Amino acid sequence: MKLKFLGGAEVVGKMGLLLQNKGASLLLEYGMTASKPPQYPLAAPPVDMAFLTHSHLDHCGMLPWLCGKYDTEVVATPITIDVVELLVRDSLKIAGIEGYPKPFNQEDIQTLMRNFTPMTYGEIMDVGGFEIELHPAGHLPGATMYELRGDQTTLFTGDLHTCNMRLVWGAHPVKCDNLIIEGTYAGRTHPDRLKTEYALIEKVKEIVESGGRAILPCFAVGRTQEVMLLLKDLKYNMWVDGMGKTISRYYLDRPEYVRNEKALRAAKRRFREVRTPSDRRRARREAQVIVTTGGMLDGGPVLTYIEDVKNDPKSAILLTGFQVEDSNGSRLLSEGVINVQNVKEEIPHPVKIKCQVEMYSLSAHADHNELMDFINACDPEKVVLMHSDDRQPLAQDIEASGMEVILPMADEEFTL
Ligand SMILES: [Zn+2]
Ligand SMILES: [Zn+2]
Repeated sequence: MKLKFLGGAEVVGKMGLLLQNKGASLLLEYGMTASKPPQYPLAAPPVDMAFLTHSHLDHCGMLPWLCGKYDTEVVATPITIDVVELLVRDSLKIAGIEGYPKPFNQEDIQTLMRNFTPMTYGEIMDVGGFEIELHPAGHLPGATMYELRGDQTTLFTGDLHTCNMRLVWGAHPVKCDNLIIEGTYAGRTHPDRLKTEYALIEKVKEIVESGGRAILPCFAVGRTQEVMLLLKDLKYNMWVDGMGKTISRYYLDRPEYVRNEKALRAAKRRFREVRTPSDRRRARREAQVIVTTGGMLDGGPVLTYIEDVKNDPKSAILLTGFQVEDSNGSRLLSEGVINVQNVKEEIPHPVKIKCQVEMYSLSAHADHNELMDFINACDPEKVVLMHSDDRQPLAQDIEASGMEVILPMADEEFTL
């Protein structure tokens, strides 16, 4: 079979992998990088069918374009389909606000929603000379690895986490000949998960007991729920704001995709939801803990809450997610400032943040060692590395284990 990345091979973002086998062509993922300006993969040709692993924009963000142009059928799990609709509508809104050209319109989103074919774990589809089976990928509820069984077996992981999180079980290896795997954390290891969780809970307690407020900026999809699950046994005045509220509801509507429905229901009950402007005023007055979007402080309700605590040394901003270079979150960590743009101002101005700022890494991706364990257990002959800014450290370890490594660049054809 012939393959070609349209994007997302040598970078974390804008995924797209074209695959041709026995006269059929398939597309795995079609996403975008939500940077300023946004970045897109190469234009996809018409394909027979598309497959989506999960609902993050770097994997799904350009599917409306694909469906609007070619009316393509797209396979994904039902919970992924629910969340994608919300995210692509939101990304269109953001493109409008930021003034960048919109790559698709509302009608294209409707076409995508009509063209989704829901499939779930363990189900099998015959297409393009393959039997294609879905397996859980950890990472997020509904995140999927695709196993393509033909003359050889190929596993495409999408984004992958192998350890159990509070929200979702970790992925299990699948024996294959070819493994196409993400390498976001190639060369890096996570701090011990349980110790990190414990330290975060203790920090929240310390902040609240000393009379401060803990603000936890979180991505709406996955992280908001993971942090709510972590903090659910604390007896404080806790609020949740942003799109994560809706995502929690979606997850509870399809509890088969979450690890512990009862725990997620309990977490949802423990947090008051900001639904109206008066709720927000109340949260700003009385909250001791706030979990809110945006995860990188570049927009969303979190900026309002930071305004209230920015000069209070008793309060804290507790980050838990990866902070992309040039985001407000990364500026806060390196320089202690965030850029704020008032409605009337053209140019954002830096604001000094004097409250406490700490980072607790709760990644939803496997780290270097976890990736190596997973790769060894899948026992492939060939490994293709993708979704990584620096594939070398992982490539070296894989080669040392006797497997062939392929490091394709975007627009470069290769065969398996
Ligand atoms: Zn992801
Ligand atoms: Zn990703």
